[in-house]
Amino acid sequence: MAQISRSTQEYRALDVAHHVHPFTDQKALAGKGVRVITRAEGAYVWDSDGNKILDGMAGLWCVNVGYGRKELVDAATQQLQTLPYYNSFFQSSTPSQIELGRVLAEVTPPGLKRFFYTNSGSEANDTVIRLARHYWRVKGKPTKRTFIARTLGYHGSTLAAVSLGGMPHMHALDGELLPGFAHIPHHHHYTQGGELSLEEYGLRTAAALEKRILELGADNVAAFIGEPVQGAGGVYEPPPGYWAEIQRICRKYDVLVVADEVICGFGRTGQWFGSQTYGIDPDLMPMAKGLSSGYLPIAGVAIHDRIWNEINEGGALAHGYTYSGHPAACAVAIANIQLMRSEGLVERVREEIAPYFRECLQQLAASHPIVGEIRGVGLIAAIQLVKNKQAREIFTAQDDAANFCRDVAADHGLIMRAVYQSMVLSPPLIITRAQVDEIIQKARR
Ligand code: PLP
Repeated sequence: MAQISRSTQEYRALDVAHHVHPFTDQKALAGKGVRVITRAEGAYVWDSDGNKILDGMAGLWCVNVGYGRKELVDAATQQLQTLPYYNSFFQSSTPSQIELGRVLAEVTPPGLKRFFYTNSGSEANDTVIRLARHYWRVKGKPTKRTFIARTLGYHGSTLAAVSLGGMPHMHALDGELLPGFAHIPHHHHYTQGGELSLEEYGLRTAAALEKRILELGADNVAAFIGEPVQGAGGVYEPPPGYWAEIQRICRKYDVLVVADEVICGFGRTGQWFGSQTYGIDPDLMPMAKGLSSGYLPIAGVAIHDRIWNEINEGGALAHGYTYSGHPAACAVAIANIQLMRSEGLVERVREEIAPYFRECLQQLAASHPIVGEIRGVGLIAAIQLVKNKQAREIFTAQDDAANFCRDVAADHGLIMRAVYQSMVLSPPLIITRAQVDEIIQKARR
């Protein structure tokens, strides 16, 4: 097929006529129209007017190896030529699916070496819900069904994943949650910690989990799920000791630990997985995004041996998707992991580029009148905008301070993301020091 090429005006007219955008007020699009991204290379994207924009979000937190990587394109092409698709249910498999499991098991934390493939992080979390409930049924504890998650947690957009997540505006779309989901508050020391040290605050927020388990009855609770660093809710890194305490409580009450690695996985925090950064020993570990650096859709759930051994006794798992482990997506994921390893991208984040990124962000916070704090770890960050630094007074929703990320920042050549009153960054792992400087200079402006 010839490359699609239209004028920006034509693109915009057709887009308004036919394209229903996720998470978007369509009416607001009608005036200015969308920005049409037509190509990309390295850490930059270009729009249909030829503007070059630094992608400070790596797409949607996913293009970890950057754009234009021939190795991934070749892997997809070769696989599509050899075997574009085969349904791998029912006692068959495909070579790239088999190989991906081997490669993944080399980088996942110890014990997590069985993988169920899905197409999206949302489906991975639906799978987590079904696997955990199945596990407890097989163990003879069928009442353990409820999931506990956190406010502002994001776990996806299917009905089950929305109920699992803690996003009020998403819950509002349905009017009510599915049964079997409960939430505890998220942590944000800057606004909620008061005089408590970070450690004290971490223990206090983790204690909410124990309280909730006791309210619900441990016999009814299947699992706790959390992102190692809460991402889409505003980038909240855990206070020191938080995850250790969460884990202690879960083990005490026989509650599974699920680390949602959809954003944190594949190098973003400076280790292969956020679980390694925070000493989490998950029973189930959903992953997506960085698994293929977004080149093709693929996601999955890593299952710990101690869970798998039980599930395996439970007969056929009545769960799966037509495109579970799509051969081309698996081939791309293998090439992606191999590339990350051969270029030492995870070590590069940890030892080289993230320390510089964070140092520059801290300088921005120290010198900018409306930057209250910098959150995050590795190459994931939030710049908290405040009305008054001394009083830690956050802008209100009416001020809509972060909205200029959406509306203005891209006009200045930088893609950031607005999350409430923060500006969020999650650049490709290949970002250079000069590009970090460019991000800071443009973000400052
Ligand atoms: N879990 C987390 C932590 C996410 O950040 C996301 C997406 O941003 C999801 C799950 C859902 O993934 P997807 O959009 O691929 O369904």
